[in-house]
Amino acid sequence: MFLTVHGATAILIATKTANPLWGFILSFFSHYLVDAIPHQDPILDRHDGRKKMIIRSMKIVGLDLIVLFFYLLFIATKIELNITQILVCILAAILPDFMWGLEKVLNKPLFKWNTNLHELFHWHKKILQNHGLGYMTQGITWIIVSLAIFYFS
Ligand SMILES: [Zn+2]
Repeated sequence: MFLTVHGATAILIATKTANPLWGFILSFFSHYLVDAIPHQDPILDRHDGRKKMIIRSMKIVGLDLIVLFFYLLFIATKIELNITQILVCILAAILPDFMWGLEKVLNKPLFKWNTNLHELFHWHKKILQNHGLGYMTQGITWIIVSLAIFYFS
């Protein structure tokens, strides 16, 4: 899933938790649960060389983080936020993807347990191969989580 969707989930968790440690733990594991929703991700590894893969990944991740930043600003204009808790939760929620990415970039099995867990929760990889539909489920998840943020805060 896009980091923005994981970030939205993190914001929802942050609004419902006060303890940073709990926020971190719940947000970290929320990553895998959200990834279990059938979706499609941009293909980062197109086997056209490491350099191109890294540049492509940086562009997509950069754009994703910019969208997340403006989304957070938008949420902040609507509800009261504990900024420390928000940042802890967002960091935790996007961490599994950065661990995964670091492994790819360095080509070293640094966090094999994370890669295996990631793979497990992407159970739908072979079922949902339609990109349009796969991005649509990401959008729907984002909308539902956003509505939950407003409803539960
Ligand atoms: Zn992920």
